[in-house]
Amino acid sequence: MSKIIKLSDELIKQIAAGEVVERPLNIIKELLENSIDAGATKIDVVIENGGIDYLSVQDNGHGMTKDELELAFELHYTSKIPEGDIHNVNSLGFRGEALASIAAVSRVECSSNSPGGSGQKIIIEAGKRESLSQHRCPTGTYTEIRGLFFNIPARRKFLKKAATEKKRIIELFTHFVLLYPQIHFTLSERKEDFRQKKIIESPARENMLASIYDVLGAETANALVPLNSKIGDWTLQGYISKPIITKKDRSLQYLCVNGRPVRHQELQTSIEKGYGSQLLRSQYPIILLDITGPLDGVDFNIHPQKSEIRFKADDPLIVEIAPIVEKILQEAAELNNLPDSKLENIKKNP
Ligand code: ADP
Ligand code: MG
Repeated sequence: MSKIIKLSDELIKQIAAGEVVERPLNIIKELLENSIDAGATKIDVVIENGGIDYLSVQDNGHGMTKDELELAFELHYTSKIPEGDIHNVNSLGFRGEALASIAAVSRVECSSNSPGGSGQKIIIEAGKRESLSQHRCPTGTYTEIRGLFFNIPARRKFLKKAATEKKRIIELFTHFVLLYPQIHFTLSERKEDFRQKKIIESPARENMLASIYDVLGAETANALVPLNSKIGDWTLQGYISKPIITKKDRSLQYLCVNGRPVRHQELQTSIEKGYGSQLLRSQYPIILLDITGPLDGVDFNIHPQKSEIRFKADDPLIVEIAPIVEKILQEAAELNNLPDSKLENIKKNP
């Protein structure tokens, strides 16, 4: 056995990065969250080769001053924990490790400008700052990431094919578009010759349904039924698909808890239970649900990528959602059947 020594700062950053950044998708999620936290109303994402070689996020949020830009890339620096209380955070970020982690495993250029400022740019490669200089740019932040894991070839090998990374990014992006309808989002792909092609564009919309039309199309939108309900301290608002429209996987099941896009297997399964025998094996409904409630009703801090959450042990949400779904689907089916069966009945028994 060798002596116990403290890890070097560089290794600490790389280990932290390993938890936050596995693939381009995680970077895009972190950057989108930062843009939303900065109050952006327009967010443009560009990817090349599934985000492996290049990705960028431009936002029109409140931006950063020179000092802020410098600190933003330091590990454990955050502006998002009010009075140091981690259970009282209403931003998407709070761990103060995303930008530092991303910069530890790639080449980053970030330019930012705050209202009334003139703008600055920082360049970081593999965690090392190369420059911080004046740089004219509009209010907001532009972050570009090149060469993910260029300094850790062993990890670069674990990336999937560009097409697979791109597919995951599109899914994640769709998630954000649907849950933040009021933000104008574009996702574009850049080719080697620098030409860009839009993959998704969703202008600012008044509500989720309008964004559903934008990104999922009219056919899907028309097959959804609203789910508006209260369970315990939670308010639920969103849509579920009628059993006639299902998917082969859960890729169109989007949950947002207190403004944060998350997955929650147990809750998703419980919603599916509400479909009873109407769902065949390996068929999954579309679920788009915005769940809001007390800030301390859920623990977000159980996963470095912040994609998993935990409800309180005695929270009625999971148990009570199934019968609510069942009732909503039943009512929708009855409405649907009105023209044929009910009308027939009325004719038969006037
Ligand atoms: P966290 O979001 O958990 O605070 P990050 O590493 O993602 O940690 O970001 C560090 C800090 O940098 C944020 O707290 C915020 O102050 C600032 N920041 C990051 N991205 C942006 C952005 N797009 N616009 C304005 N400020 C930003
Ligand atoms: Mg963040």
